Amino acid sequence: MKNPQTSVLISEARIQVRIRELGAAITRDYPDGELILLGILKGSFLFLADLVRAIDRPVKIDFMGMASYGSGTVSSGEVAVTKKLGMNITGAHLLIVEDIVDTGRTLNALVHLLQHEKPQSVQIAALLDKEERREFAVPVAYRGFPIPDAFVVGYGLDFNEDYRGLKDICILREGA
Ligand code: 5GP
Repeated sequence: MKNPQTSVLISEARIQVRIRELGAAITRDYPDGELILLGILKGSFLFLADLVRAIDRPVKIDFMGMASYGSGTVSSGEVAVTKKLGMNITGAHLLIVEDIVDTGRTLNALVHLLQHEKPQSVQIAALLDKEERREFAVPVAYRGFPIPDAFVVGYGLDFNEDYRGLKDICILREGA
């Protein structure tokens, strides 16, 4: 990709409105008890940062690292834990916070892994959902936006570690 270019798919303003709606729904839905937001590194870091401030109840934060992509735009087909859970989640309500669900391979594997720790509940909040690409069942309780099958960057999402700081979610396309 010699001259990559981006075009805006979802603007910063739309992202912020939707996250406030998701935060209100999470605030409403969760009963008392410990709620842990588990951000999946690195792509979810901005979503998590905005979502936690849109939730009006006590929460705890942890991060895990999962890798399913190598350095390109095509899935490697393998899921690896690159950073382990940092806290005890037994008996807690766990809300996994993910940037994007594509085939569902990463989240499907993660949910199974986390069940071993016996949390009280496990739910998923995903900002973006490429639903037509799904191969593995993943129950997404809180979804930001369904998107078409295109490679997106910005608002935390990268291509080879670039573009994470873009304020909008953009489609990455090869330039002329
Ligand atoms: P899945 O396991 O659902 O196939 O893939 C999920 C992971 O693939 C995401 O957490 C993300 O890291 C990566 N991914 C999938 N689609 C995109 C995309 O369009 N852009 C970026 N930057 N990463 C993606």
